[in-house]
Amino acid sequence: MKSTDLILTGATIVTANEEWDVFDTGAVVIRGDNIVKVGSANEINKQYKNALTIDCSGKIIIPGLINAHTHAPMTLLRGLADDRRLDVWLLGYMMPVEREFVTSEFCRVGTQLACAEMIRSGVTCFADMYYFEHDVAQAVADVGMRALCSQSVLKFPTPDAPSLEDGLLRARKFIEYWHGHSLILPSVGPHAPYTSTREMLEACASLALEYDVPVHIHIAETAKEVEESRSERSMPVVPWVKKQGLFEAKVLAAHCVHLDSGEISTLQHYHAGVAHCPTSNLKLASGIAPITEMLDIGLNVGIGTDGPASNNDLDMFEETRLAALLAKGATNDPTVVPAKQAFAMATIMGARALHMSDITGSIEVGKRADLVVLDLDVLHNTPTFQRDQDSIYSQIVYVSKASDVADVMVNGEWLMQDRQLLTVDEDQLTMSANDYAVKIDAFLNVREQSVLSKLVAIGGMERQESFEIQAKARISDPQIVIDLLQQDPFNIVRHVRYNQYDTYFLFNEPEDYRLRIREDDLIDADSKVKSVRYRLTLLGPAKEKEFAGSILLSRSRYLASSPHTLRFYREYFVPAEEREVEKDRLRWLVSFCGVEFYVNLDRLHSPDFGTFVEVKSRTWSQRDAEDKAELISEVLSLFGANPEDLIIEDYSDFVQ
Ligand SMILES: [Zn+2]
Repeated sequence: MKSTDLILTGATIVTANEEWDVFDTGAVVIRGDNIVKVGSANEINKQYKNALTIDCSGKIIIPGLINAHTHAPMTLLRGLADDRRLDVWLLGYMMPVEREFVTSEFCRVGTQLACAEMIRSGVTCFADMYYFEHDVAQAVADVGMRALCSQSVLKFPTPDAPSLEDGLLRARKFIEYWHGHSLILPSVGPHAPYTSTREMLEACASLALEYDVPVHIHIAETAKEVEESRSERSMPVVPWVKKQGLFEAKVLAAHCVHLDSGEISTLQHYHAGVAHCPTSNLKLASGIAPITEMLDIGLNVGIGTDGPASNNDLDMFEETRLAALLAKGATNDPTVVPAKQAFAMATIMGARALHMSDITGSIEVGKRADLVVLDLDVLHNTPTFQRDQDSIYSQIVYVSKASDVADVMVNGEWLMQDRQLLTVDEDQLTMSANDYAVKIDAFLNVREQSVLSKLVAIGGMERQESFEIQAKARISDPQIVIDLLQQDPFNIVRHVRYNQYDTYFLFNEPEDYRLRIREDDLIDADSKVKSVRYRLTLLGPAKEKEFAGSILLSRSRYLASSPHTLRFYREYFVPAEEREVEKDRLRWLVSFCGVEFYVNLDRLHSPDFGTFVEVKSRTWSQRDAEDKAELISEVLSLFGANPEDLIIEDYSDFVQ
């Protein structure tokens, strides 16, 4: 018996051990960072007479809660762009802001803020996945919490790794540095199957196996992810991940919303852990994970808040209650996920999901002292019943709130006592967090004013500053143009046919910017669609100059590939007006007097405006453009159009 032992006595101890022991007037003995005895207070008080004793009568001591999935630094982004669809939220806001602001310092401040909030809601351990994970881990260790920290790896550039190879190297160094730390379990976090390559998943699995650390990954969060996996890889998400050998390592899979029974069995077979994130799944309308089925076959399902940008808090009491209620609602069965099981998910099962149950998740001899003292002597938890021993879980899961957490201990050290945080300077943190908000607001304010910078933010754009000479006229007989092009002095270099479906976004401000989303269906000789291309073009305001029979436009054009849906662009750019133009385009590249031009023969069928011939050339030089202007008007008159037939407007102007 050591005099430095600490006894917490008199409380109801909810152990979450194998037998689900609850000691009504119990005590816990802590020596260093370990729990050395749990049992009835009477017995223990006699045995440990010289120990430092804290009277916890009237309180409840539970194992510290485990937040099974989050992105701690994202506290600094909470509430930034709410009530949007996942793709718009993630690609349009989160990622661009992350690219601009996420640094080591950002991650430290954000993580400290997250830790402070989590301690206040009784969390002692959490699973994190983010960038600059070394700084996340350092902040967690400084505060004194426990965490599974996963260095993110993605197939494209991230705030902390310009390439996939850099990301993998960063993950390796991270694991080497933190391996064996008393509070931090380092791991690798391939973000998700859809942001991974096969080789990347294989490399992550072998890295995790090499150091015997977990792999933390998002799996089947949305129905879209599953659809794409089925169409691109001819299989759902879990079998594809399995094929890359990921489940040979210890996996923590976040979300798992859209899994079939076979996939659930696979996770169980490989002892993977699942992090169920009900608030995030509801807020982003991703769906409801089939956790009842998972729990029925004995899968370890923990509960996670997910990042505070999609929740927006890190309150595990709220999350646990929601997990229980949602399962009942989703299955039409009030008996599923009873309070005791929900409590298990928030504690011991969560620890198992994180592959950390050997040291935390329950109040048992040999485990680290990660505990929470709840003060349930509050109005909203009155009265209490003694008849049914399990009613204590109802009290904790359905009624208790983060504000009922009085004291929190991690690894034998107090992090909060009497609701006072001991390892975090809350005032300083609040100031730093608000400073970030001011900067991010300013950044987004500027960006939101410009269609161009919004386009830049979603990437893949190239700029063309060009001079464009064009002449366009309505014609009644397109055959005249087709026949003329076959003869001297025309020489056809290339000919193609497209069906073009254009959607134009118009904006109130800045005026004259137009974003065109074009679907180009290339039509082959048999009138069949040969290939489809999507392109996004931002047309800047055109400076016009009229020449004899042609127009000189000088303007900036920004081209980008268009990998997203029209719906995505609509929700992201929020245009003031939309216009649609559908046309059949016959396009020739012709040489005329040694100069090359494009001739387009456009039949507009929606709106039904007839046929137009357009002669155009794009060039980088103003002088060259002016030289071509004369020739273009000559070509147009050969086609039978008079200068007064010339049309200046863009097709999108016809649609009013
Ligand atoms: Zn997540």
